[in-house]
Order: sequence, then structure tokens, then C-alpha cells
Amino acid sequence: MRTVRTAADLAPTLDAWRADGETIALAPTMGALHGGHLALVSLARRRADRVVASLFVNPRQFGPDEDFARYPRDEARDAALLREAGVDLLYVPDADAMFPEGFATTVSLSGPALGLEADHRPGFFDGVATVVAKLLARTGADEAVFGEKDYQQLVVVRRLVADLDLRARIVACPTARESDGLAMSSRNAYLDADRRARAPALYAALRATAAALLDGAPVGEALREGREALRRAFDRLDYLELRDAATLAPLDGTGRTGRLLAAARLGATRLIDNVAVDVEG
Ligand code: AMP
Repeated sequence: MRTVRTAADLAPTLDAWRADGETIALAPTMGALHGGHLALVSLARRRADRVVASLFVNPRQFGPDEDFARYPRDEARDAALLREAGVDLLYVPDADAMFPEGFATTVSLSGPALGLEADHRPGFFDGVATVVAKLLARTGADEAVFGEKDYQQLVVVRRLVADLDLRARIVACPTARESDGLAMSSRNAYLDADRRARAPALYAALRATAAALLDGAPVGEALREGREALRRAFDRLDYLELRDAATLAPLDGTGRTGRLLAAARLGATRLIDNVAVDVEG
């Protein structure tokens, strides 16, 4: 596995692969790697001849009060894990090279990028969409893998690619979980023992709410109970919502494939998770 830091160093390797007729899958990450990222790489390996992973803590997707400065960074450890997982090329761009002096473009979506996370993280999806558009353009990847853990991000990226006629196919990777159900996340490292013990309540509440809906509970009642359970377990509930799985439009419970999405906080640590739910009429 080679590590490259500039677009100029990235291009020759990718061009050579393409000239040989090889397909390329991209797995974008912010590092602080865990089993979820490795699941992404493993899916990428199954989808294409060559796998490029990127490591970039994107300053544009952090709000002024968020954890950009203290986000865990350990490039040597991440590179060793990615090499072991079978990544062919690691792209670690500098922030100054990604967003040089005079950079003036922001990719901004409406539709699925409104509500949910956007209500609590203003500017987040603009930052994500801008950097994903650049990574897809720079790599010209045939496929790009994104985790269902960040479900709204996945839907936003699909919309971005469709709207801007980008060539990459977006592939969804199921959420990798700890044995107690907690979705793996780089931010789990912020949790002390007490909060770590409370954290699985997020997935438990999502599953209980999905089960109630499948049992025929009215949507309003199932969500009310789910929200109460989350308020009991967490210091703050940001949202628990049922949305259309493809568009994230509000869902009234009439026979479409739904997604339950939630975000809640333990102290300063914000956890998100989601589950599929098929709501019958
Ligand atoms: P991040 O480094 O947190 O920006 O995540 C990079 C990619 O890994 C995104 O597509 C995430 O959705 C995905 N990812 C993060 N956690 C998980 C997980 N537990 N399971 C599957 N994919 C994940």
C-alpha cells in the first residue's frame, strides 16, 4: 500500500490502473479507524479491482463548537490497519491542498440534507458534499462505499451523485456493531465507562420502536414511547424520526420502506444510529 498526499501523486497510479482496465473503489474516512471502516474496505475489495482509502479530517464538516481540534488522529495506526485490510492506495490530502487560498465553492443540497442531522449540525452536509464531490472528482472512482451508520449522509451522497451526474456508483455498507449493539464509531472513544454502559440504549430503543411499528402500533405512539425511552437513557435526545428510506421525506406509515433515525447525547458526546423498518398500511 502506497500513501500519497497530493492530487498530482494520486493521478499516475489511478491512470495506470485504468489503462489496465482495472476498476477502482473509494472508501472515504476521517481516520480513527474501527471495525466499521474495515467493513467498508472489505466491501470495496469485493466491488472493484483496486481500493483507494482516503484519510481526511474535513474541517468544513465541523461546526465551531464541535470536536475538530480533538478528533482522534493516528495516521500510523490507521495506515497499518488499512494495509492489513488490503487497501492498495492511501490518500491523505492536506487541508491546505484540499481548500487552498481562494477556494470559493460550496456544494449545498436541499431535500434529504434538510432536517435530522442538519437541524443540529448547521453546515455539516455542505462540508460533506463539498469534500465528497472533490474526492470523487480527484479519484474518478467507479464505486464509492459509505456506511449506513451515517444514513442521512448516505442518502445525501446518493442525491449529490445523481444531481451532479457524477460517475461513481454509491454502495451502502451495513452498520458494524459492538457485541452489545452499539454502532461502532470513532467518537465512542470519548465515552467514559458509565456512558459507554448507557450507550447501547440507542440501538435498543430503535429496535424496540421498529418492533412496535411492525406489530401495528400507530406511528405517533411508537415514536412517543421510543423518545421517552431515549430521554430516560440519555442526557439529551436530539431526535427520533421515521422517514422514507430512499428520500428521507416524512413517513406517515402507509406501506413504504422506512428508516428510523435517532441522535442522542451522553455529556458532550453525540451518538447517532438508525434501523430499517417496513411499515405496512
Ligand atoms: P467517518 O470516518 O466517521 O467519517 O466514517 C467514514 C465512513 O465509514 C462513512 O461512510 C461512515 O458511514 C462509515 N462508518 C462509520 N462507522 C461505521 C459503522 N459502524 N459501520 C459501517 N460503516 C461505518
